[in-house]
Amino acid sequence: MKKIAIIGGGIIGLTLANYIDQKKYHVTLFDEPTGQATSASAGIISPWLSKRRNKQWYRLAKDGAAFFPKLIQDFQLDDTIYHQSGTLLLRPEKQLTELLALAEERKKSAPEIGTIKQLSAEQTQQELPLLKPHPALKVSGGGRLDGKAYLIRMRTLAEEKGVHFIPQQAQLATTTTVVYGEKQAIFDQVIVTAGPHLKKLLAPLGYQVDLRPQKGQLLVFQTAFKNSGDFPVAMLDGEADLIPFLAGKILLGATHENEAGWNLKETPAAFEQLTHGTRKFLAEPEKLLAQPVHYRVGTRAYTSDFAPFFGQLNDQLLVASGLGSSGLTTGPYIGYLLADYLNTGNTNWQEYQKELSTYIQSGKTLASN
Ligand SMILES: Cc1cc2nc3c(=O)[nH]c(=O)nc-3n(C[C@H](O)[C@H](O)[C@H](O)COP(=O)(O)OP(=O)(O)OC[C@H]3O[C@@H](n4cnc5c(N)ncnc54)[C@H](O)[C@@H]3O)c2cc1C
Repeated sequence: MKKIAIIGGGIIGLTLANYIDQKKYHVTLFDEPTGQATSASAGIISPWLSKRRNKQWYRLAKDGAAFFPKLIQDFQLDDTIYHQSGTLLLRPEKQLTELLALAEERKKSAPEIGTIKQLSAEQTQQELPLLKPHPALKVSGGGRLDGKAYLIRMRTLAEEKGVHFIPQQAQLATTTTVVYGEKQAIFDQVIVTAGPHLKKLLAPLGYQVDLRPQKGQLLVFQTAFKNSGDFPVAMLDGEADLIPFLAGKILLGATHENEAGWNLKETPAAFEQLTHGTRKFLAEPEKLLAQPVHYRVGTRAYTSDFAPFFGQLNDQLLVASGLGSSGLTTGPYIGYLLADYLNTGNTNWQEYQKELSTYIQSGKTLASN
């Protein structure tokens, strides 16, 4: 049986570990979860109305969202992990007509978007009582994923299948030699799904990677709304979004801090940034914002063109990173595609990304680095 190492147990690594055919491979997963993006994430799965122009990214995000019913079925994810809550997009009335046309157009190739409805200011507030009356567009296909709960579930399932977990930081001495603590082990294949840390992991092997860390902070409020689990996600017109979870938990996020490097400190500036523009959308801003708050902080990985990459770097090494702000949406599907490649040899992923050499080069210096 071939031996595989996965370095990085975020959303890609753990989905991949669960889809790999355990009759063909023995899988060892190394994870030392400092600054992990998946467990810090906001949880929005609703890519269809993005204004990003990168068509390959959109195809990946749309197919990633379409993959969720299979994911839920395959791993029996319940409502505490994923819930199709619907998404509200709050915009000025004028922009909603344009957005409605975009939604109808995109629905032709993405029926998962569900029903699309323009809501009056009062209807929006009925959907989400946290808000002041404000016009919105609602798409019923949007959902929320609890990244941390997802990883707990996927780890339990992976262990039941025989995946061996090593909760330690790993380094690569060669493409197949993994060093951890005082030990080292040799594998037939290594897959690096280490978020922004991929760059450091590949450096000793002579690879240069177009990848940077981006700090993300969000706020978690505990409110008295007992039925918050039924509320839709609200994408406000500006930086912050409101993501209701079960039992009164409401998330407000997230920041995108490109200059903060690996810093994981909570900052008053993030509170100010996230709450400042949000107040005008809230029915009772002082009431919500006066609730006890705690922060979640994580490090995203992003490339020069903000697009993810994944695939085979050489005969022994596979990689995936650069998922940026939409990795909860694209990550499970990328994990599945990599597992499908290992299980069957399929490489049906060209339509989703540029050549891997756009982001990873051997022995040369990337101009953008
Ligand atoms: C605040 C915030 C909000 C977000 N909100 C959303 C959202 O609403 N919707 C959405 O789609 N996406 C969102 N994202 C983005 C999404 O969370 C990420 O893109 C995605 O989780 C990245 O997954 P990953 O598996 O590539 O990396 P990660 O989740 O970061 O996992 C990588 C793992 O590898 C480990 N690791 C690294 N190096 C080593 C090593 N040498 N040895 C062992 N282990 C190692 C790390 O510690 C980590 O545990 C958000 C991110 C943040 C930070």
